[in-house]
Amino acid sequence: MRKKVIAGNWKMFKTQAESEDFLKGFLPALEDTPSGREVILCVPFTDLNALSRNLHGSLVQLGAQNVHWETQGAYTGEISAEMLTEIGVRYVIIGHSERRQFFGETDETVNLRLKAAQKNGLTPILCVGETKQQRDAGETETLISMQLNKDLVDINQSNLIIAYEPIWAIGTGETCETKEANRVIGLMRSQLKNPDVPIQYGGSVKPSNIDEIMAQPEIDGVLVGGASLEADSFARIVNYQ
Ligand code: PGA
Repeated sequence: MRKKVIAGNWKMFKTQAESEDFLKGFLPALEDTPSGREVILCVPFTDLNALSRNLHGSLVQLGAQNVHWETQGAYTGEISAEMLTEIGVRYVIIGHSERRQFFGETDETVNLRLKAAQKNGLTPILCVGETKQQRDAGETETLISMQLNKDLVDINQSNLIIAYEPIWAIGTGETCETKEANRVIGLMRSQLKNPDVPIQYGGSVKPSNIDEIMAQPEIDGVLVGGASLEADSFARIVNYQ
């Protein structure tokens, strides 16, 4: 049985005070969460320390949204894996489409970051997905297969989570049809050396569609942006039926 992984991606939202407020509503709502679900909050760097203290003993694990591949050095604005693990971070999102689109992330740098994360005991959440244009041109399968090929060179597939995030479904309210997401994720799985890698769906996941998404046999969890910012809605997603 592959594990179910529900991760929130706060992107560039929430101050420390706001993140602590969030937990006051969120943690009590997890008291009856069924066992066997991994719950992760991937938050801005400045929120990590406060959350690390407050999440102690809870079901929720801490994740970052990026990591550099060097251990230290003259890399203004970057954070190393060791800096993250020191404060209790266990997961890190790598290759999110917003990093690829706005910050020049390439498959080569994604691969370097994945290696550095794993080497230092972090579990990466690798994001892949196609644009609307690529989907309309019938390039989805080729594009995703190419991303996986390049990103996963020499990567240990026993300490890895992958998220299929069609870019046109991110933050748009337009969810990928659940059966279609299931189909693409099945294809992705067939390309992996380890078919037990948990593969999430991401893109406009919300309380109203979570049950249908999680009912799909190939989908092992979700990566949630907007709907993870509000304690009630993210708790409803974590406690899917
Ligand atoms: P969204 O974002 O849930 O707001 O669509 C998902 C993501 O970017 O990971």
